[in-house]
Amino acid sequence: MWVPAATRRPRPRATQYAYGVGYWSDRQIEEWERGWASAGDSTVCAEHLTEPALKAVVRDGACETACSYCEASARRPIAIPVDELLEHIAESLESEYTDADTLPRDEGEVLFEVPLLTAEVLENEAFEADEELLGDVLKAFGDRGWCRRNWERLPPERRLLLGWTDFCATVRQRRFLFLREETDPYDSDYVSPRQMLDELEHGLPALVVTWPPGRRLVRARVHPAAVAVGDALSLGPPPAENATANRMSADGVVMFYAADDEVTAVVETEAQANPHHDTTTAGVFVSQSLLRLVDLTRLPDVPSIFDEARRAQRPFVRFIASFAHDISRSVPARGAAGMYAPTQIVTEHIRDYVRDELGDSIDGIVYASSRVIGSRCVVLFIDSHRCGDLDVPRPADRVATLLLDRTTVWSRARRLSFEAGQAG
Ligand SMILES: [Zn+2]
Repeated sequence: MWVPAATRRPRPRATQYAYGVGYWSDRQIEEWERGWASAGDSTVCAEHLTEPALKAVVRDGACETACSYCEASARRPIAIPVDELLEHIAESLESEYTDADTLPRDEGEVLFEVPLLTAEVLENEAFEADEELLGDVLKAFGDRGWCRRNWERLPPERRLLLGWTDFCATVRQRRFLFLREETDPYDSDYVSPRQMLDELEHGLPALVVTWPPGRRLVRARVHPAAVAVGDALSLGPPPAENATANRMSADGVVMFYAADDEVTAVVETEAQANPHHDTTTAGVFVSQSLLRLVDLTRLPDVPSIFDEARRAQRPFVRFIASFAHDISRSVPARGAAGMYAPTQIVTEHIRDYVRDELGDSIDGIVYASSRVIGSRCVVLFIDSHRCGDLDVPRPADRVATLLLDRTTVWSRARRLSFEAGQAG
């Protein structure tokens, strides 16, 4: 039988109680409660740390003109009390770890998790410091054992990943019926498809990049040789009634698909086009205004646990790599409409609900090509009304976001041909 530990903090052992309350001085009680011992009057400058967030803590909080570790001194403040650094380290670690004392035990044996020493936790979190400072930090935390906070639940990034997997399975079968779903009262780790969209809405603004006007985007179209394609109207996005389902858009939803380079635009387009069309035409559209895009190709590094401002993004950033991989993954063309339902719904959600950190709407998504390794594709929420030709004057009331440079347009016989239902 296991018994949950009654308190968060290590208790003094029974033999220590025998000395009575007076055995513990006020300072010792305070140190016991907060989980680390004071380093006295020692001060430290930023030179003894390599972790950027901790260096910033010292630099931003500098209030002492001398450092106890290198004898450096200056007229302006360069150091902080080591106790302030310890306090920041403790608060940071406690955002994701807690005392191993909270783990249930069975006849003294810890269940579920292996407790970690402070040195192991600091190593996991890429804490680096001069030997002397590291020694003092370890001494301050003593023999405190750590385990994952909320060890009884799944790690947050794992919950998101399972939520995303469930989202994909659900919307492939039932598309929008999932909006009726509620949470699962028997599983607190369950992330419903509805909640998954909220998580994405909350986390994706951190991935938004801006492309200044003048960006060149290559767009290709595969068509019958008899159809003349050469201007924005024919090479740009089709009217809604002709828009067929694609990776990011369902039947009837118009979006502008393009790529950073010609090869990728052609390969991606030829692989998905009607197998009976024999001609490929491509050309360069130039953006006329700033574009705000969710960029799934340049994912942020996982923020440091010591970075108070960005620490909360850690689970989402860990999850987003799997999400980005899923978005760009190629799926069999057979039944593609259903297979692409997750990306189509997420894309529409980004278009309609996700805003960047300034509250502006998003113009599109950058994602990795599934067919040309290392190349990037882009889908823009732009229809034919917002496209034009660079060399054709437009009425003042018709502002175009993308203009086709018709001098770049070329056509040739289609090379990449897939049998219907076999495109990969
Ligand atoms: Zn120093």
